[in-house]
Amino acid sequence: MSDDVKNLKGASRRDFIKSATGIAISTGIVLGGLGISPKDTDAKESIPKKWDETYDIVIIGSGFAGLAAAIEARNSGANVVVIEKMPVYGGNSIINGGDFSACGTKMQKEAGINDSPELMLKDMLRAGLYLNNPELAKIVAYQSNDALEWCANYIGAKFARLNFHGGHSVKRAHQTINASGSELVNKMLSKAKELGVKMYLKTKLERFIVNNDNRVIGIEVKKDYRFPDEKTGKKTYIKASKAVILASGGFSRDINLRKIHDPRLDERFESTNHPGATGEAIMAACMANAMDVHMDWIQLGPWTSPDEKGFGYVPLFCERLVGYGPMIDPKTGKRFFKETGNRKERADAIILIGHPVVILGDSYAVNKQVFPAALKKGLENGSIKKFETLEDLAKNYNMPLAQFKNEITKWNSFVEKKKDDDFDCMIFPDAKPTIEPPFFAARLWPKVHHTMGGLVINENAKVIGFDMKPIAGFYAAGEVTGGIHGAVRLGGVAMADCIVFGRIAGKNAAKEIPWG
Ligand code: ADP
Repeated sequence: MSDDVKNLKGASRRDFIKSATGIAISTGIVLGGLGISPKDTDAKESIPKKWDETYDIVIIGSGFAGLAAAIEARNSGANVVVIEKMPVYGGNSIINGGDFSACGTKMQKEAGINDSPELMLKDMLRAGLYLNNPELAKIVAYQSNDALEWCANYIGAKFARLNFHGGHSVKRAHQTINASGSELVNKMLSKAKELGVKMYLKTKLERFIVNNDNRVIGIEVKKDYRFPDEKTGKKTYIKASKAVILASGGFSRDINLRKIHDPRLDERFESTNHPGATGEAIMAACMANAMDVHMDWIQLGPWTSPDEKGFGYVPLFCERLVGYGPMIDPKTGKRFFKETGNRKERADAIILIGHPVVILGDSYAVNKQVFPAALKKGLENGSIKKFETLEDLAKNYNMPLAQFKNEITKWNSFVEKKKDDDFDCMIFPDAKPTIEPPFFAARLWPKVHHTMGGLVINENAKVIGFDMKPIAGFYAAGEVTGGIHGAVRLGGVAMADCIVFGRIAGKNAAKEIPWG
């Protein structure tokens, strides 16, 4: 046995990562820019002699998952702090499209939609290529209705309509009244404040502090941190008597970490996410012995536009039109893929074509389906365009006119008979042929949207370590966790996942016996 192997035998994961991290830092490969320095990597060496602040529960991240955890933990009697590194609360949650997928709900019943947790689970597993942890996916599907009702009845968020997302069998995305996650985040923020949850902005998690029993006992943060300047902020130690809950979201905006796991996703791909969607908190958790999974399953949204920045308005246009209007490759003037396919299938098909494609709808479909404010904003910023005739539309996108018109005639015949013979697109019962002017269209090119990978958790939202056991005092929820969605997260299931597991994490963390 070589000395290296001998030395590794008795070494913990953390010790191993400590040495690996040293290499990574010296080569600048992994942790450059993440604010983690080699001297910080040995948690046991640096338990602070004095804590600056103490709470029962310390939560990192102020999106759906962190706020759901905070509210439940507080309602279970714990004193709670939420830290947020950005100058504003809400993370990616506050800018998402506000679609909450849930099954067997009141709104679905009123719309005559037959749905069940079994069907939602089946959809999640099929889209996830069966890589999902089935127990965790099951919890999301089976508790989705309860989570939605909690958001509506207890938090007071308003949901106005039901939407379809590709890959689901039925319409089950409950859209907030303003078609934005801000409706829910702002009401959760008010509730958390009203309940007495302490909240800090500009406070960045640097590392988890672990005691000799391998229990997470607190965190080191930088207060008054000014994102993304790593030179800013004051070192502060926060003790967590009961538990730390990590709800720091995904890493779609972390190009270095993205490229480690999927080298195709370099600077050429924009992201829909807020700038703070970076992966340093996941890495810090790994250095505290947390196991990660599925880090290379990174989702591209197929409904984003190259003609506007970030998430923009086109996703709210495109996703409402699938099953009502066709998606066309402008080079051929023809359809090329099932419009109601899941996100990965559609993004892969567009990338394979190699240039932006076009989605269009006529006045009937657009007025019926698209949220008016999103349409207005998209028209204003030029990412959505309006045309009096199909000829004008074809000309604008340099489409071969005859092929395009033939394709529309064919599409219309599929809509009439409610069956797509070419790509098996779902055509909704209320869809009509694309004939009524004016016509509306937008170009589509994928952007990085969601990272399915993250920390391994169990059904109680406890973080699992490399010894396959839960790490004492450590919970996680939301996009920072991995394994729930497998290869593909379906539309609207992020909200369900964050609220379901955020609540589970908050309730269970509050039950912990204080360590000291
Ligand atoms: P989720 O949808 O899983 O709730 P969000 O992206 O909505 O995730 O929220 C996660 C929040 O966590 C974001 O506001 C982000 O700025 C914050 N965050 C990420 N990393 C850190 C960190 N190192 N320290 C403090 N906050 C963080």
